Amino acid sequence: MNEALYDITIIGGGPVGLFGAFYAGLRGMKTKIIDSLPQLGGQLTALYPEKYIYDMPGFPEVLAKDLAEQMIRQAMRFKPTVCLEERAEHLTRRDDYWIITTNKGVEHATRTVVICAGAGAFTPRKLNAEGVEAFEGKGVYYGVRDKAQFEGKRLLIVGGGDSAVDWALHLYPIAREVVLIHRRDEFRAHEQSVAQLRQSPVRILTPYELRRVEGNGRLERAVIFHNKTQEEVELPVDAVILNLGFVASLGPIKTWGLELEGNAIKVDHLMRTNLPGVYAAGDVCTYEGKLKLIATGVGEVCVAVNHAKHTIDPSAKMFPGHSSDMTLPALE
Ligand SMILES: Cc1cc2nc3c(=O)[nH]c(=O)nc-3n(C[C@H](O)[C@H](O)[C@H](O)COP(=O)(O)OP(=O)(O)OC[C@H]3O[C@@H](n4cnc5c(N)ncnc54)[C@H](O)[C@@H]3O)c2cc1C
Repeated sequence: MNEALYDITIIGGGPVGLFGAFYAGLRGMKTKIIDSLPQLGGQLTALYPEKYIYDMPGFPEVLAKDLAEQMIRQAMRFKPTVCLEERAEHLTRRDDYWIITTNKGVEHATRTVVICAGAGAFTPRKLNAEGVEAFEGKGVYYGVRDKAQFEGKRLLIVGGGDSAVDWALHLYPIAREVVLIHRRDEFRAHEQSVAQLRQSPVRILTPYELRRVEGNGRLERAVIFHNKTQEEVELPVDAVILNLGFVASLGPIKTWGLELEGNAIKVDHLMRTNLPGVYAAGDVCTYEGKLKLIATGVGEVCVAVNHAKHTIDPSAKMFPGHSSDMTLPALE
């Protein structure tokens, strides 16, 4: 018996991959999670940790980072192997199992694979304006990890989508001042949020864009311009938050011979891809009627994992039984 051969390897430790790891543990499978980020939680921890989620069953409202924390706790119940900061690059068949090779050159042997890679490896869309690169991480930010860092600060937020509008709404109560600029007069964000924004003390300037940021050692000013008249306005600021969206790509996964539709992996009703023993679930997969939500993603991965169990052990039923009838190891 090959000690290093896992029953199931989950690529992606976002909410869907985490729930998959829990279910795989529940089914007694030797489980591994691989994620390219330095922490688990996927989009919840990387993109919007401080935002409230309102559509999780059992949680009338929950901060994304708190949901991630609970999902990680749940996933760790059966002690899966977790490999962080490793990007899955190649998938190759060896005998009757799969080898996932990561950017670190590590080979992970596994009987089944569940791809829960979300939108793939994502990076924020960068702004090519003067001074932005030099102040990145030191006054100019592409996301909010900890909103406390903006307490009492004069903020400029750039963008017109949900992230920009939501951050303006979340931060104005703790910041000294928030200015939001957008290059168009219309916001793309949810109309209810935009209505809330217009009632708030946030100063909205449209159609404005960022021309440059300046400061002596620390960020002091942002120069914005009206994109029709070119008139410039200088704003004293302590921080600039750029919410210009993300560039995501499946990257190497696209070369694995999977049937794709755009940037997503096609699956059937059992979450099977066209490769034997390889499943996909969550944001990364597509089928007719697909919804990119956590609630649907965790259902998909539950189907994938239970089918994977049945595939490697045909005597095991696909239905896992009710967890309420089971005795589980204690939570940590
Ligand atoms: C601002 C915002 C607000 C949202 N609000 C809600 C909401 O209120 N309710 C809701 O249901 N949904 C919401 N969503 C969507 C929700 O976050 C996603 O549907 C969910 O995160 C998808 O989970 P996932 O596990 O499929 O993918 P992800 O969370 O994207 O996780 C995928 C993981 O895979 C890893 N990965 C990718 N490629 C590789 C690779 N090659 N090798 C190793 N690791 C890899 C990534 O690093 C990442 O950690 C929101 C999304 C955003 C951006």
